[in-house]
Amino acid sequence: MSKIVVVGANHAGTACIKTMLSQKTGDEIVVFDSNSNISFLGCGMALWIGGQIKGSDGLFYSNKEELEQMGAKIYMESPVERIDFDNKIVYAKLKDGSTKEESYDKLVLATGSWPIIPNVEGKDLENVQMVKLFQHAEEVIEKLKDETIKNVAVVGAGYIGVELAEAFERHGKNVTIVDIADTCLPAYYDPEFNSLMKQNLADHGINLAFGQMMKKLEGENGKVTKLITDKASYDVDMVIMCIGFRPNTELGKDKLETFRNGAYIVNRNQETSIKDVYAIGDCATVFDNSIDDVNYIALATNAVRSGIVGGHNAVGVKLDSIGVQGSNGICIYDLKMVSTGLTYNKALKLGINAEYTDFEDFQKSEFIEEENPKVKIRIVYDKDTRVIIGAQMASTHDMSMGIHMFSLAIQEKVTIEKLSLTDIFFLPHFNKPYNYITMAAISAK
Ligand SMILES: Cc1cc2nc3c(=O)[nH]c(=O)nc-3n(C[C@H](O)[C@H](O)[C@H](O)COP(=O)(O)OP(=O)(O)OC[C@H]3O[C@@H](n4cnc5c(N)ncnc54)[C@H](O)[C@@H]3O)c2cc1C
Repeated sequence: MSKIVVVGANHAGTACIKTMLSQKTGDEIVVFDSNSNISFLGCGMALWIGGQIKGSDGLFYSNKEELEQMGAKIYMESPVERIDFDNKIVYAKLKDGSTKEESYDKLVLATGSWPIIPNVEGKDLENVQMVKLFQHAEEVIEKLKDETIKNVAVVGAGYIGVELAEAFERHGKNVTIVDIADTCLPAYYDPEFNSLMKQNLADHGINLAFGQMMKKLEGENGKVTKLITDKASYDVDMVIMCIGFRPNTELGKDKLETFRNGAYIVNRNQETSIKDVYAIGDCATVFDNSIDDVNYIALATNAVRSGIVGGHNAVGVKLDSIGVQGSNGICIYDLKMVSTGLTYNKALKLGINAEYTDFEDFQKSEFIEEENPKVKIRIVYDKDTRVIIGAQMASTHDMSMGIHMFSLAIQEKVTIEKLSLTDIFFLPHFNKPYNYITMAAISAK
């Protein structure tokens, strides 16, 4: 029987703790987390802020009590401040202010990530917010009740920034979204897709300050009042920083091998460069099947899967990760977009001899009289090997399940020709005999 210490108990940590306990190996599990809550679904934050869900109750799926009932010892509000990797001891500061020294046989690091705050003048002014924790969302919601907060700027047009822009607009705020790129969501979608989202945001009255770099923030009486970019100046009462996340790897950065952004490098068993030390979730790398290499993709889905894999291996049940594709989705007002793997632009940047095939068609047969919106699809493939390396889909209709097939196709290295012959059923209520997926594949050059 081993003692396994887990540092961090959000999505990755919770999945790992539950996995380890469910294996009933009799190992002792001791957990430290600096926060006061467990398993907050940040993905519901924009819905909560925007008033599209009633409250935050449904945004948690576990808690200290549940994990303790299962058999773990949990210390909340107890940050681990130092780890002695040579002597296998963690040093945590407990809620009551005392210091706890906990020895371990195995260690699981699940310390996640933290928003990147650009080092600009004015970043510490009041009403310059970040959004990561439950507490951040609570604070923003409280501030939105102040009617003097009329102009909100969101810095960063990735999926969190775009979701929050919608949430603030739903509150009747004058919203400006600023990004150095000339579009939104460029990491996940090619221009033919993110232009749809750009138009969608503009149609709902959101000001697009794309192709602009935030230079500084100015304030009066300690509160933010202006956001200055290299091209313009905006009146603001609140600024939300959403330019990205950095892995939380302070504890091990001098001891463990790290990736270019500082994430702990792990193998397919979530093992780090030090024996008996595992890393899972946003603080660790993933194996990305679309590039056949190690990568960093911070998503709750990856965190949970890596927690399951790490949990098995930590208790001695060998399990290999099968890698990920970075599958993601976004729904802003009525526009739904999903993607997986590489965009065409990204594939080219990586030096891949990439090609794409596009198709757009009605979801269902035209004789179906109910609502039948169009679906736009792009499949990206390697011209030399013909293997599918990415896909993007957009519609006002929920077509999201289709992207899972592409995720599997990338994972399993399916060729575009094989996809064109794949058995896709037909029923007029659902699709067309020559459905858009088959048609896109058949149209590949
Ligand atoms: C607004 C928002 C929306 C998102 N939407 C989606 C989405 O739609 N889909 C999706 O897949 N992902 C989404 N994500 C990303 C997702 O939330 C993260 O990928 C996920 O939280 C990673 O889980 P994690 O457990 O690895 O890390 P984290 O959630 O960062 O948790 C790390 C935990 O470690 C603890 N910790 C850190 N340092 C210490 C220490 N020294 N001692 C003790 N404890 C420590 C922290 O308190 C925390 O509980 C979203 C994120 C945000 C912020």
